[in-house]
Amino acid sequence: MNCEIISIGDELLLGDTLNTNATWLGQILTRHGVQVARVHTIGDEKAVLQQLIREAMHRSDLVITTGGLGPTHDDITKISVAELFEAQMIVHEPTLAYIKKIFEQRNLPFSTSNYHQAEVPGNCEVLFNKQGTAPGLWFNETNSRLAVLPGIPREMKSLVKNQLLPKIDDLTNGQRRTFSFYMKFAGVGESTLSDEVIGPLDDFLSLGIKVAYLPSPQENTLRINVQARAEKEAVEKVKDIKDFIYQRAGNFIIGEGDSCTLPEALGTLLRKEALTIAVAESCTGGLLADRITDIPGSSDYMLGGVIAYANTVKTNQLGVSMDDLKNYGAVSQPVALQMAKGIASVLETNIGVSTTGIAGPGGGSEDKPVGTVWIGFWSTNHHFALHTQLTKDRRMNKKRTVAIAMEMARRTILGIEPMPYDLKPHRA
Ligand code: AMP
Ligand code: MG
Repeated sequence: MNCEIISIGDELLLGDTLNTNATWLGQILTRHGVQVARVHTIGDEKAVLQQLIREAMHRSDLVITTGGLGPTHDDITKISVAELFEAQMIVHEPTLAYIKKIFEQRNLPFSTSNYHQAEVPGNCEVLFNKQGTAPGLWFNETNSRLAVLPGIPREMKSLVKNQLLPKIDDLTNGQRRTFSFYMKFAGVGESTLSDEVIGPLDDFLSLGIKVAYLPSPQENTLRINVQARAEKEAVEKVKDIKDFIYQRAGNFIIGEGDSCTLPEALGTLLRKEALTIAVAESCTGGLLADRITDIPGSSDYMLGGVIAYANTVKTNQLGVSMDDLKNYGAVSQPVALQMAKGIASVLETNIGVSTTGIAGPGGGSEDKPVGTVWIGFWSTNHHFALHTQLTKDRRMNKKRTVAIAMEMARRTILGIEPMPYDLKPHRA
């Protein structure tokens, strides 16, 4: 089954809004065996949209539009498709009742343009929108299908997941399609991972399996694609390559699945071992706590932290020695260690993790250039600090420091060597 996506909205052409709808749809459709053949971006213009829908439905099995379903005059998608199919507009009563209820609950006046939100072309099936006021539309024509979805990403995603994908799954049932498997890695760069740790995968590729490395500053992903008729067959087909990768790179694998992340892997481990953690952050400014607490239920193991930016906070809140700050500087091994120890003792956790570094772009010196970072770890059995040299990019330095800190904690709890990115721990 092939598909064309039409993203509608002047704001997309002007560059005001990033077309995240198309990328999200591309991912999810691919996963459901639909091949996205074209993505079009057009403005709010009726004639252009009508001609494009006509052409796209002629070429492809499925056409999906997003945007232009709002209540204002620039939203022309609904009227365009009604004209195209020569359909009358009718009121969709369940939608009208739902919109009225939303307005009542929020104590807002109900206007004519809100009433129009409940109107739909008479020949379509309504995709009921529980997230907002614009319903989605589904047209099942003889040789193609058209799904008309709102532009607001949250509403679009909910309609796709709850209403569109079941229809697509019915249509593609029994066909060969692409299944993707994701393996997640941390503590190793993409090139080292592919060249040295995992090595060539040619033997498996000749069996029709495709692999791609998708790097990020936080965790690296290996995507394995395979063609199959059903999930069970796909799982069977990738078993050998996955076993091989586990053998070669086991210590670097933090989990499987596209949504698996380092904070999730660390959180799962902390919970399993019944350990608590706290953070003392200088150069990461709270980003480490932010990422750890991205995981629902993280309050089970994450007790809290201090953003110890100023030296006075390091000394007053965490008990870092004033002399050490003077003698070694804030970005140093003793300070990183004392920060980690301090936060673990103040918040009474099993583990304390600290970050201190020169995030950049300015502020470096000869012996401590921009990107110099120390990350401290303190638990009853392990205390050490890692030194790493990052870049001049402030945001990137914060992200990578956070990733190394989490991976360092994960490895230490599991007793895995070496430390992330081949860093040698300077043990206290
Ligand atoms: P609309 O359905 O045209 O009223 O769109 C409502 C809002 O959704 C717009 O103002 C954008 O902020 C957002 N939006 C529309 N199209 C997209 C898109 N392709 N990707 C991301 N956001 C979008
Ligand atoms: Mg719009």
